[in-house]
Amino acid sequence: MALSQQRQEKSKQNRLIETELTHHYLVADKVMQLFQPSSSSASTEAKMNVQTDNLVGDFLSSINTNSDINFNALVETFTDSEVPIYPANFDSYLEYLANNVVNHSINTSSPRFIGHMTSALPCFVRSLAKLMTAMNQNVVKIETAKAFSPYERQALAMMHRLVYNFADEFYTQHVQNNQSTLGILVSGGTAANIIALWCARNKSLYAKNSFAGVEKAGLAAALDYYGYQGAVVIGSELMHYSFDKAADLLGIGTHGLIKIPTNGNNQVDLSALRQAVADCQSKNLHIIAIVGVAGTTDSGNIDSLLDIADIAEAANVHFHVDAAWGGPLIFSEQHRQKLAGIERADSVTIDGHKQLYLPMGIGMVFMREPQLASAIEKNASYTMRKDSFDLGKRALEGSRPGMALFLHAGLHIIGLKGYEFLIDAGIEKTQYMAARINAMPEFELLSEPDINLLLYRYIPQSFRELAVKKQLTESDNQQINIFNECLQKAQRQAGRSFISRTTKTITYLDKEISVTALRAVIANPLTTQDDIDAVLNDQIEIALELSSSDSLEVNQSQ
Ligand SMILES: *Cc1c(COP(=O)(O)O)cnc(C)c1O
Repeated sequence: MALSQQRQEKSKQNRLIETELTHHYLVADKVMQLFQPSSSSASTEAKMNVQTDNLVGDFLSSINTNSDINFNALVETFTDSEVPIYPANFDSYLEYLANNVVNHSINTSSPRFIGHMTSALPCFVRSLAKLMTAMNQNVVKIETAKAFSPYERQALAMMHRLVYNFADEFYTQHVQNNQSTLGILVSGGTAANIIALWCARNKSLYAKNSFAGVEKAGLAAALDYYGYQGAVVIGSELMHYSFDKAADLLGIGTHGLIKIPTNGNNQVDLSALRQAVADCQSKNLHIIAIVGVAGTTDSGNIDSLLDIADIAEAANVHFHVDAAWGGPLIFSEQHRQKLAGIERADSVTIDGHKQLYLPMGIGMVFMREPQLASAIEKNASYTMRKDSFDLGKRALEGSRPGMALFLHAGLHIIGLKGYEFLIDAGIEKTQYMAARINAMPEFELLSEPDINLLLYRYIPQSFRELAVKKQLTESDNQQINIFNECLQKAQRQAGRSFISRTTKTITYLDKEISVTALRAVIANPLTTQDDIDAVLNDQIEIALELSSSDSLEVNQSQ
């Protein structure tokens, strides 16, 4: 009995060792296979491509915006934290991906997904994504990105030219001059805003006489040397929260970000801005920058950039424009005058992954003065030499991918006129939606759209008469707020269409009240007037269901 047990144990051990050994060879073999470049159509990679393309096709062709899986149930499927021991087959991994991830991903391309700044992409970016990943260029330096460095500079110069429109000689001199920086390509608008304020801070608190400059000596020493009580950045209360991050990182703290109230049209109040500048000057606070917003994230409104440019110029302060969303209006003859004054900005942020219809990860910051970015330049003897062409020396990020490929391609394959068409069409459709909302008793438009963002709300039946007469009480408005919150959540959960939600302070009967607003972003080129009608009808249907059930309470707690 004991003997046979021993034998059994022994053979089990042998088996284990044996399988591990076999697996060792199998693992090496399998892993090495993954690295073989393969061009034949019968190759493993070609099969992977076909399978993945099918998955992409299925995903993009669905009109629904999402599956209706409960989020908590979804989270439950991602709780295992053990790394798999042996390499899995691509087929089985793709199947896992399809069932667990792709199936429950948001279809940001759906023509009825009209509540977010992320939307459909042109098909060429999917093909070029393969090329970009395959080449795996690292744009941090020319040793890993020989063609990509000047290629990126050219694409950025094209955008710079649209913003600033300097003479030919300017571009001839600076496009490929490694001492000049016309723009920096980063991961997004957040990083772009941070870099702009970083440049502004370093340039304004520069090295002088015995003082080494803020870059080397730090903020405390800089303020001390220049005799300031503190440092601030000033802009509208509707500035994107990336400015809070920037203020934090730059050492002025988020309390150093001065937020100026806005007028009824969501634009910075100019007299309050002038007053704030004067206050800071009298308190001996150093103003690092004044920020103008060209397309607020909430409602798309554009600050009066010309006036802000005047204020900044008079105060001799860096003028930054956050045009992450609204920047691409420069492509439109009809609408570009809404950005008048942007050409006077010292720096401008534009997101390529928003209204240039490029994949995520294309933030850009442009500089009026090509030497500005030297204020943040860093060199490293082993890689980033001073006179080199390396793009990493004037950047926040280090290694980064060749995302410029998409920008350069978009500027050619869509072109100036193509982008103009897309921008104009989005604004036109937004006006259509605003007109529909105005004509429907179920809805109330909350502000006239400047561009292609729209705020409105649903008015439940029992409040409609009072709403039309503008006689809603504060408690009526609160109830309407709760209803709209439930409506938006129920719509998102149903997954047939999507509108986002925000909170807006408005003046109602001479009183400031907080309103829950439904927020439409009409940027998807695939969205038609029929889709807009369908989304509004979907909301009416859901609202009726909500009114007739007591699910309101339940939803509120989500
Ligand atoms: C989107 C946006 C940002 C932030 O950009 P990310 O690309 O999300 O980092 C900043 N400002 C405005 C006005 C935006 O719309």
